[in-house]
Parts: sequence; structure tokens; C-alpha cells
Amino acid sequence: TKNDVKRFFIRNAFVILTVAAVIIGIILGFALRPYKMSYREVKFFSFPGELLMRMLQMLVLPLLVSSLITGMASLDSRASGKMGMRAVVYYTTTTVIAVFIGIVMVLIIHPGKGSKDEFTKPQQIEQVSAADAFLDLIRNMFPPNLVEACTKQFKTQYAKRVVHVTMTVNDTIFAPNGSQTIAREEMIPVPGAVNGINALGLVVFSICFGLIIGNMREQGQPLKDFFDSLNEAVMRLVAIIMWYAPAGILFLIAGKIVEMDDITSMGSQLGMYTVTVICGLLIHAILVLPTLYFIITRKNPFVFIAGLLQALITALGTSSSSATLPITFKCLEENNKVDKRVTRFVLPVGATINMDGTALYEALAAIFIAQVNDFDLNFGQILTISITATAASIGAAGIPQAGLVTMVIVLTSVGLPTDDITLIIAVDWFLDRLRTMTNVLGDSIGAGIVEHLSRHELQKKDPEVGNSVVEE
Ligand code: ASP
Repeated sequence: TKNDVKRFFIRNAFVILTVAAVIIGIILGFALRPYKMSYREVKFFSFPGELLMRMLQMLVLPLLVSSLITGMASLDSRASGKMGMRAVVYYTTTTVIAVFIGIVMVLIIHPGKGSKDEFTKPQQIEQVSAADAFLDLIRNMFPPNLVEACTKQFKTQYAKRVVHVTMTVNDTIFAPNGSQTIAREEMIPVPGAVNGINALGLVVFSICFGLIIGNMREQGQPLKDFFDSLNEAVMRLVAIIMWYAPAGILFLIAGKIVEMDDITSMGSQLGMYTVTVICGLLIHAILVLPTLYFIITRKNPFVFIAGLLQALITALGTSSSSATLPITFKCLEENNKVDKRVTRFVLPVGATINMDGTALYEALAAIFIAQVNDFDLNFGQILTISITATAASIGAAGIPQAGLVTMVIVLTSVGLPTDDITLIIAVDWFLDRLRTMTNVLGDSIGAGIVEHLSRHELQKKDPEVGNSVVEE
């Protein structure tokens, strides 16, 4: 009846609006392409999208900290320990599977044909050693200054660039023979990471802090109440931003389509590479993860995924899993009714370290670069690639194209030229969006699986913070 139709639209308003936004965004983007907007005009045009990005990013810090602290404080340490174990097992298993799929796909399809002629010339990229990068990953877990951790990621110590400076005559120390050009090493920050927060450091701190508050009982109560209430307030802000999200997504997508390079001029190797990545991500997202979810929970995975649609589309629009985090929370808690004690704990951690799409991508891309260079990889080297790709996906921040930066680690570990990252930059903006969707899906399915496995512990404890979806 008419009323049913109306109710259907009202209930699914967000999803319908978001899907419509993507479609209109794509159409609008292609319609405007012939006008060849200048850089400045594109910036003006995508301004509403930029605002959405900023609003979401604004909420990430309070949301991440408050949800982890309240999540940990409201579980007793035995339950959180078990839940943590399950989450870690899930993250490791799915990441390893993702890497495996990436490797198998690139070996079977073999998109790289041993020639670089059709690519644009590689530029110089800084050298990084895998060991140093690994130490930096651990450094980031322990931010020396919490306030700084909220504003930027720890500047990496490994990326160095050689700059050539000309010294003047009176510089007697550096240029004793008059004017002379010398090479000097200079530290450079990892691109992109500077704007992000040090999520990894904040996650580690919040987990410990929340556990301690939980163990303090009465004395910890004021802090627990504070973060509880902060969390609730942030989630209410998210609910408001969700109304703006479709408009923002529309302009993010349209703006990107307007400014992207012409795809018809793409070489055949890069084209095949794109197809290979898409196939790998699809297998992982549509086949592996849903099957895993079904085997463990015996529930329909596609109903679960349908509830996540808005988060997935936001990931597509923003290409950042940490900016998508607020929406992922809403979708899981409200549409899929996942217990808050699980989402609060599992989602922030997942968004920071669990990146299936990125892991798959990094392994695949490294082997592709080897193929382009006619570089034969032995089994040991492929194993090295899988290990470093896993580490690189943990280290990658949930921000646009972070995976491209951490790929330097994977390449150096087997002696591949890091400059060749620039071969795949042309398509990365697009593949980044797809791997971000996969990352968000992996985190969300993880929350569903961990909830199912932890149902006994959840039943017993703390009914007041339980499934309080009826808060409004
Ligand atoms: N953009 C991705 C994310 O936010 C990370 C990556 O570049 O792979 O999840």
C-alpha cells in the first residue's frame, strides 16, 4: 500500500539518498569533464565534499578515544582479554588470506610484461629500510606526547632525501674551496601522515587507560562517566552529519571524476593491473569475508553487508577508513544491532590496524612492479613480500593513499626499485577507494564475528551498557 511505500522510504532514507548521491555524482562528473575546469575551479566545485571530509575527521579523535576507553572500562578484564584475542585472530587470519589472494591473482593474471615503455617516467622516491620502518611502527605505538599524538603522526626517522645545496665562499666549514655544491641528507616526513592523528598511539593509550579505569571500580567511575557521556555526545553529532553526508559524497565523487586523467590513454599493463586489483578485492570482499561470516555465525552475510551500505559508500567517497569510522559505528550499531561493547572495542582498533584491502594491494603491487622490471622472484622473496605487506598494512594510517607510502617498505625488502611506485600512481586514487571499502568491510564483519563468538561473556555482564540501541 501507499503507506508501506512511504514507510519504506523513510526507513531507508539514508541509504537511498547515499546511493542516489553516488549515481548523480558520477553523472555530474562526466557531464562536466568536457569543460576542462582549472585546478582552482575544481577546488571550488568539490568544496561541499571537502567539508564532509573535515567534519568526519573532526569527530575521529574524540570518537576513537572515548569509545575505546568506555569500551574497555565496561568490560571486565577477562572478557576484554578474550574478545581481544578473538579480534587479533580474526585480523591476522583475514589479512593473511587477503595477501594470499593478492599474490595468487597477480601471478595468474600476470599484468606486468617486462617493459616500462608505456609508463610515465618514474621520479625519485626516498629510500627506506624495512627494519627502520618497523621500528617506526613501534615508536608510533608509544607517543611521547599525547597532545602531539592528537595532532600528528610521529615523524618518521627513516625517510631521508638527499638535497644538493650550493655553499657560498665564506662558508669555510662546508665549502672551504669557495662555492661548491654538496649533498646533504635531510629528513622528510612521510607524505600524508603529517595531517593525520597518530591513531595507533592513541589506540594503545586508550586501551590501557580504559582497562585501568575499569579496574579502579568506584574511584574510576567519574572518568568512566565522563568518557561515556563524551561518546554519546559525539554519536549524536554523527547522527546530524549523516544528513549532510550524501551531499558531501556527491561532490567528492563528481569532483574527482572532473579532475581525473583521461583513462583511455592508460597503457595495457596498467589497465590489466587495475583489473587484477579489482578482481582480488572482489574475491576477498564478496566471497571470502561473507563465507567466513556465514560459517561462524550462520547468519546471512549479505543482510549484514546491506546494513553497512552507507559506511561502504562513505569509504568510496572519502577513501579514508578513519574518516568513515563514525558512519561505520552508526551502521553497525543501528542497522545491524551489534552490541556496543563490541563495536566500541573492535572498530577503533580495526580501523587503525586491520586493513585487508591494503595488505592485498601492497603484495599485489610489489609483485606487479617486479614483473614490469622482469625481476624473477623466488619463493623466499614472495614470502618476504607477504610478511612486509602485512606489516605495511598495519602501519598504514586510515587516510587517503597511505598504502602507497608504506609500500616503500615492501619494495625495499626484496630489493625492488622504490621509484617505480610512481608507475602506479596514476590509478591509485581509484584503487585506493576500492581498498578502503574492503578495509571498512573487513573491520565491520570482524565486529559481527567477534560479537557472535563473545555472546556468552556479553550475556553475563553489565546489562546497563549492553545493547542500548534504544537510547533516543
Ligand atoms: N586509504 C586506505 C584507508 O584509509 C589506506 C590505504 O591507502 O590503503 O583505509
